[in-house]
Amino acid sequence: MAEGLEVGEVAWVAGPTDGPLLLCVGGLHGNEPAGVRALEEVVRGVEARRERLAGDFVAVAGNLKALAARRRFVAYDLNRAWTAARLTELASSNGTEPDEDREVQRLLAVLAEVAERRRGPVYVLDLHTTSGGGGAFTTTSDYLGNRRFAMEIPAPLVLGLDEAIEGTLIGYLDDFGYTTAVFECGQHNEEEAIKRAVWAVWLAVRSAGLLADADAPEARRGWKALRNAYRRLPRVLEVKYRHPADDEEGYMSRPGFLNFQPVRAGEVLGDDRRGRVTAPETGRILMPLYQEQGEDGFFVVREFSEFWLWLSSALRRARIGRLAHWLPGVSRDPNRPGTVVVDRRVARWGALGAMRLLGFRRESDDGRKLLATALERGGR
Ligand SMILES: [Zn+2]
Repeated sequence: MAEGLEVGEVAWVAGPTDGPLLLCVGGLHGNEPAGVRALEEVVRGVEARRERLAGDFVAVAGNLKALAARRRFVAYDLNRAWTAARLTELASSNGTEPDEDREVQRLLAVLAEVAERRRGPVYVLDLHTTSGGGGAFTTTSDYLGNRRFAMEIPAPLVLGLDEAIEGTLIGYLDDFGYTTAVFECGQHNEEEAIKRAVWAVWLAVRSAGLLADADAPEARRGWKALRNAYRRLPRVLEVKYRHPADDEEGYMSRPGFLNFQPVRAGEVLGDDRRGRVTAPETGRILMPLYQEQGEDGFFVVREFSEFWLWLSSALRRARIGRLAHWLPGVSRDPNRPGTVVVDRRVARWGALGAMRLLGFRRESDDGRKLLATALERGGR
């Protein structure tokens, strides 16, 4: 593995003292090179301070073939491939595999080396950009540690995307017990997106504890700049709705929508082969689709108040969720530890919201039966 950043490859900067490992990923989507550019810059900065570095800084570029082709992906989406089923399939593939299979294998080798060489806790920051413009944001699955890590970057934090999107790299790494976050740093071709990504990586370097505050002045500058840019947006939002965009329907957003722009229920947001597509509820639009490749047409998100945020961390720190099966209509799943079944005919209260508050994530929901799994199993 190269020491120093080979463009589009892996850079590994090892400090002289033991400490945490921060893994940063850019360009999992090939039409999103901003993260790779940002990592090249930060690697140079971290290398210059190697003597003061505690632990390891690792930067990796995602989909090399797609980056070269400037496409989101070649055969399949590299950030939807990290499911147990897909990885098992991959292990038994026979050499006629699509391009992304090789990319997954290359990244698996990096992850194996991370697991082997780590000298402390592992943090992961995954950098992306969006086809539409507007505010940058962080997103993560709602482990309390992830929440804290993401919130070190003063841009809005969007919760619940992980429930709407399956097979992300970050979701896969959560199961290793790593602390993870995604930073969506702006529009694909926007020069500012690189700058924001650079700031976010420095903030992650500092908050993971690789460098002291005095040795990472970029973090402080980045915090100020991002704070000023996004202070008028809500600090935390949650996903209320995802509009799927499969190829047959040919969904495209109407021009001009920006991340976090308020939308009203019934407002026309885009079109597909069947006609107009409207917002099913009032909120703010997130990630309106303005490109051919992609499975998500748009999301509607709404502010998650600081009070609920505080309450949920308090309840979760007290581990009240262990008692969730005492609630009416809630029972433990006998086959899966940590999972509860909510009978929605009995649990007529806001079941999903309440379960999230107690630290559960939705696994499935058919309107009658909600399956939810505890996030903080094993005391994370
Ligand atoms: Zn992306």
